[in-house]
Amino acid sequence: MEDWFDMRVDPAQIAKERAKARELRRTNWWRAQIQKGVCHYCGGKFPPSELTMDHIVPLSRGGHSTKGNIVPCCKACNNGKKYTMPVDEILTELDREDPESMDAPAAAETGVEIELPDELMRELVGDLPPADDAVQDGSPDDPEQDV
Ligand SMILES: [Zn+2]
Repeated sequence: MEDWFDMRVDPAQIAKERAKARELRRTNWWRAQIQKGVCHYCGGKFPPSELTMDHIVPLSRGGHSTKGNIVPCCKACNNGKKYTMPVDEILTELDREDPESMDAPAAAETGVEIELPDELMRELVGDLPPADDAVQDGSPDDPEQDV
């Protein structure tokens, strides 16, 4: 069952989408969304500071950071989003780094980026390609070979 679960979503793509989400968070469009103060899921009214950015289709499921896929979500609903599969738990943790950083709008304004280091990503996700995925196609970058 549940064929639509595509667990092979490329972690690099997730990273890219999350970067896009960060960009979107700085837009007037997003500000307008949270100014409305309504949680997409429970319909409750919240001050903008209580609303986090949520992907309707999670990035870990191949969702994209588009306006159509991003909604304001109250913290209770955000925390209530539980998945049963262990891989999802990890990816959910990764997802959570995003909304959390909304709690520090000052940081966003000073251009400080909160980014997971590659090593951590690799540890959490398992098979993140090497930092430069450009070096993948057979260019022998091995110093040992020069001897
Ligand atoms: Zn809610």
